[in-house]
Amino acid sequence: MDRIKQFQYRLQLQLAQMLYGRNGVDAFAKTCNTTAIILMFINIFFNNVVIYFMWVGLAAYAIFRIFSKNIPKRYAENQKFLELTLVPRKRMNLVKLQWRDRSTSRYYMCTKCHQQIRVPRGKGRIEIRCPKCSNRFIKKT
Ligand SMILES: [Zn+2]
Repeated sequence: MDRIKQFQYRLQLQLAQMLYGRNGVDAFAKTCNTTAIILMFINIFFNNVVIYFMWVGLAAYAIFRIFSKNIPKRYAENQKFLELTLVPRKRMNLVKLQWRDRSTSRYYMCTKCHQQIRVPRGKGRIEIRCPKCSNRFIKKT
C-alpha cells in the first residue's frame, strides 16, 4: 500500500471511530449542510447578517445531528423530514429523469397519489391512467 492510500485509510478509520455511537450523516443533516453551503456562497454577495446567522445555524445544527448520541430521537426526526419532503424530492427526481430521457419520454406525476408515470414522447394529447390509483388525467406528450 502506498503512502497516500495508507493516509486515506487512517483518515477513514479515525472518522469511523469519531462517529462510533453517534447518529452520523443522515439525509436531514446532509440537507442542512448543503443549504448552509449555498447560503454561505449567496452571502458572499449580500453580506447580510440574517443570512449569516441562518447558514451558521444550519451548519451548527448539521454538526449537532452528526455527532448526536441520541440516535432514536435523531432517527425519528430524520424519518419525519423524509416524510415531509417526499413530494418535493419526487418532483426533483422527476426533473432529473425528464432531462435524462428528454428525447424519448415524458414524465408526469399523478395528481392524486404522486406516482411517477413515464409516457412516450410525441403521441399528442393522451389520457394517462395512473397504474397505482387508476386516476385519469389528460396530458400533452
Ligand atoms: Zn395515482
